[in-house]
This record gives sequence, structure tokens and C-alpha cells, in this order.
Amino acid sequence: MAQVLEKPVTGYVGRLAPSPTGALHLGNVRTFMIAWLRARSQGGKVILRMEDLDHPRDKPGAAEAALDDLRWLGFDWDESYVQSERVAIYRQALESIHDQVYPCVCSRRDVAAAQSAPHAGEPLYYPGTCRNRFPTWSAALAYKASQPLNSSTPQPLPCWRFRVPDGTVIAFDDVFAGHVEQDVSRTLGDFPLARHEFGAGYTLACTVDDLLMGVTEVVRGDDLLLATPAQILLARSLIPHAIPRFLHLPLVVGSDGKRLAKRHGDTRIATYRSRGYSPETIIGLLAESCGWAERGESVALADLVPRFDLSTIPHEPCRLPEGM
Ligand code: GLU
Repeated sequence: MAQVLEKPVTGYVGRLAPSPTGALHLGNVRTFMIAWLRARSQGGKVILRMEDLDHPRDKPGAAEAALDDLRWLGFDWDESYVQSERVAIYRQALESIHDQVYPCVCSRRDVAAAQSAPHAGEPLYYPGTCRNRFPTWSAALAYKASQPLNSSTPQPLPCWRFRVPDGTVIAFDDVFAGHVEQDVSRTLGDFPLARHEFGAGYTLACTVDDLLMGVTEVVRGDDLLLATPAQILLARSLIPHAIPRFLHLPLVVGSDGKRLAKRHGDTRIATYRSRGYSPETIIGLLAESCGWAERGESVALADLVPRFDLSTIPHEPCRLPEGM
């Protein structure tokens, strides 16, 4: 991987990483607004990366629609990438750490069953059932093929897992969320990197891309805070000197304080556009939630660059602005 990284990285490099699993909404846009301003206020570069590897959940046309909404709102970027076009790069990374990965034949159901009390929303802990079980991917595949097919779900392929040594505690200082420390071997166990022989999963693709694209700081929602230690661990095996800083932001929640969902109304940007809202009205409302605009002020994204101030962003989840 080293040859790709020989380009010297100077200055701040940030990224916006939408997933085309649905329409862009106020919640995504607030995070993207902060990420974009954080980069531009330091004269930094912005990368747009479409994270379209989640095939079953990806929606046709959602990627194009998200880019169109972002441009309409005033976002720009210096480089853009599409993850589905980069799978060979992720596989090369996987091969470069072949001694730290192994094939696993456990289904999600097997993993859930092995967990004493799984809680909704918590990542599944993997107890390492397939560690030292199959010498090669083909051996794991042959085992899978020999098992009776479950009638309701097609027989899934094996996956590649990263071997997490016992006692692996990862600690980092998040620029916004503060100190985070996690024993990855106890909370997550050996985490998955790729579900198909030729594919790549989120943790692998995102980590490799942040390293190779020279991202200096990852700004994203704090729903991914606890996904970060695994990414740092993987990055240490790939290109340790290129690990970015992390800045996790509270998410937008509904007026009841719960995670933004359909029942809170339609907060898709496309809907505001069709109702005649201007980009400046939407950006103004979101800027107000960060302490950078007066109530009801309309403001263009680019005009917020000199107003950007991390210290005025509240640490609590952001309630859906009134009237939205
Ligand atoms: N694509 C992910 C999402 O939309 C974000 C990944 C990241 O920022 O690392 O949830």
C-alpha cells in the first residue's frame, strides 16, 4: 500500500461520506455542513466519497440525488470517489494483512445466539468461533456448501474477520467527544472486514480510504464513535503513520429527543426543495443550531466560513429546529 501513499499530504483534508441508502435529510446535512466548514475555514481540501457498498440497502438513484442536493445547498469538493469502483484496492489491503485475518462461516444468527444478552443497537460481539478453524477461504466455502440450506435465507458466504489479540485496548482523543477507550477484544471481538470473496465491508473500505486519501480528520456523526476503535486498530496494521484525527458530532434528534425517524415528519432536503425553501433558509436554520446565525436568518454556506467556531456547537443532541 505504501506506494499509493507516497504523495505528500499537506494541510487539512476532510471528507463527506454519504451512503446512498436513502435521501439526504437535515441530520446528514448538519454533519456535512460542520465537516465542510471545518475544512474550508482552514483552507483545507474536501473529498466527496460515495459509500455505496451496502448493496441490499442502497437505493437506486439515491447517490445522484444526494450529490444534487449537496450542490444545491452550496457544497463543493475537490475530489470525488465512488467506493464500488475501488473494491480491488480494498482487497489489496486485505491481502497485505493476510496473517491477521481468517475466514468465518458463522451466520449473524449464530453470532447473536452465542451472545449472552445482546441489546438492540449494540454491535454484536464475536467470540472467535472460527479462529484457527479453516486454513483457507476455499476450505470455509466448502464447509458452507456442505451445510443444509436454510429455507428462509439463502446460504450466506463466509466472511473475512480481523483477528483482535486479547487485551487490545484502543484509546484516542476525539476532538469533540473527548477521550474514548475501548477494549476491542472484549466489546467487539474479531470484527468482519468483507462478506464476499471479492467484496469489502464498511470498516475495511472506510479505513483504507481515509488512509489512502490522506484524510487528516474524520468529521462524522457520533453514531460511529464506537466503530472508531476497530478502524484505528485496522489502520495500525495498514499504514499507522496516516491515521486521521476523529471528530464525532451529536446527531439531530426529533423534538421528542429520539433519533430522527419518519414519524418526526419529512426532513428530506428534496421535500423542502419542492416546498420552495431556499438553500439559505435550510443552512441558516442549521447554522443557528451551531450558534453561527440568528434565529430566522438566511445565510449561504460559503458565507459561514468566517463564522465557523467549533466551540459554540452544543454537545447535546441537536433537536429538530422548530417548524422543520
Ligand atoms: N457512509 C456512512 C454513513 O452515511 C458514514 C461513514 C463515515 O463517515 O465514516 O453513515
